[in-house]
Amino acid sequence: MEQKHIANILDQYDQNELYSDFEALSVCNLCPRNCNTDRLHRKSGYCKTGSEFKISSICIHRGEEPVISGRKGICNIFFTNCNLQCKYCQNHQISFNCLDHSRDEMRLEAVLEQITHILDQGIKAVGFVSPSHVIPQVKVIIRALKVLGYKPAFVYNSNGYDKVEEIRKLEGLIDVYLPDFKYMDKDIGREYSDAPDYPQIALNAIKEMYRQVGSSILLNDDEQAERGMVIRHLVLPGNAQNSIKVLQEIADKISPHINISLMSQYYPTYHVAGHKFLGRILRRKEYQLVVDAMEDLGINDGWIQDLDSYENYRPDFERKDHPFE
Ligand code: SF4
Repeated sequence: MEQKHIANILDQYDQNELYSDFEALSVCNLCPRNCNTDRLHRKSGYCKTGSEFKISSICIHRGEEPVISGRKGICNIFFTNCNLQCKYCQNHQISFNCLDHSRDEMRLEAVLEQITHILDQGIKAVGFVSPSHVIPQVKVIIRALKVLGYKPAFVYNSNGYDKVEEIRKLEGLIDVYLPDFKYMDKDIGREYSDAPDYPQIALNAIKEMYRQVGSSILLNDDEQAERGMVIRHLVLPGNAQNSIKVLQEIADKISPHINISLMSQYYPTYHVAGHKFLGRILRRKEYQLVVDAMEDLGINDGWIQDLDSYENYRPDFERKDHPFE
């Protein structure tokens, strides 16, 4: 759908309703960082993001879990900046707040033109990647797509560092939750992601996601999730015990029947070169230890990866239209 046509349709819609959540940006406490900052006029919060649509790529992604990609792929929207600054981040080109991402700022009409171009090819799901710091923008995109007559499944693909009250407000808007659950150890949360409170925050947020959609995954004709949740956990080198504690927490406090994507695809970026653990790839025996623990905990639904999968998951966001190809 062309931008001019999109603008015409949206102009007839109540703008106050479309942007009704932007008020929260005037004193931003959207995420657990609680910066209390005015994002309508400055980019002074931890995430260095204002009220703009700052997106590094909108593309068809076929490399997600089978139920997320389905047969045709998902239209993923990769937001820049992030409310977590994981030192090993595999998407560091777009997530590090110290970098200048101003070239990724887009007008809403341009965002919608790219998304609708993909949806018009028969793609049935839209994924918001790293959305925790831009929830008001996410809501505008969802509302606008509905106004334009599109009804894809909306997937919330977050790092898990989300506030419960914000996730609660997404009920009825988001169809599929795809959160990370990274750490159960405060010290690791502090050292790797500047977030010692990550374990409790992520647990509470994921519990709320589970309350909304449960553990069953409803598939469409393309074998793609249109409702449900998958929890992702990336096993980090030298941190198998943290991974086992995360799985234990999921089984004990949420449900052993949730689909888990247990990932081995870690590769060290140059930012962590020389780090005792993060500077190397994962060892087979480390990953196997976590896979065995998952079985012992009675978690039987989900996916594990081949250990050499790290060779296939190195996005390059300089290639904006095809970062994964
Ligand atoms: S969304 Fe950004 S500005 Fe708002 S509280 Fe979180 S890090 Fe701070």
